[in-house]
Amino acid sequence: MESTDSGLGAPIRHEEPEWCEFRRVEHGRMFCSVAVRGDARGTDEVYNDTCLACPMNRIRRRHPCGHLDPGLQLTSHRERTSIDKVHLACKVKLVRLPSDAAECDQKCEYFRQVEIPSAPAQDER
Ligand code: SF4
Repeated sequence: MESTDSGLGAPIRHEEPEWCEFRRVEHGRMFCSVAVRGDARGTDEVYNDTCLACPMNRIRRRHPCGHLDPGLQLTSHRERTSIDKVHLACKVKLVRLPSDAAECDQKCEYFRQVEIPSAPAQDER
């Protein structure tokens, strides 16, 4: 897709990432609600590129357990945010999970299937 300049020098990609239940927008900027602050460059601000590269949506849809607790460590680089680490934990077992959540399926005794929200239908927008 086409790139344009933001007015501050850095190019911004306008390729649209998939809809994500964790993304929110505020005054023209985008933020990730599962971002955890790491060091001083930690941020919760995301860009299209960040979300295009993010595995969380895919992990969530493959493992729709209501006990899955996701976190993302994001680092700010001017008008770019990189994903440094995917954190996953189980709210019932109180353990950290591998970053692919491979065991979070019907085989787990605590698995509780939840409906993952999806993009609003065309006529609801
Ligand atoms: S960084 Fe990932 S989890 Fe966060 S809003 Fe973007 S796609 Fe969603």
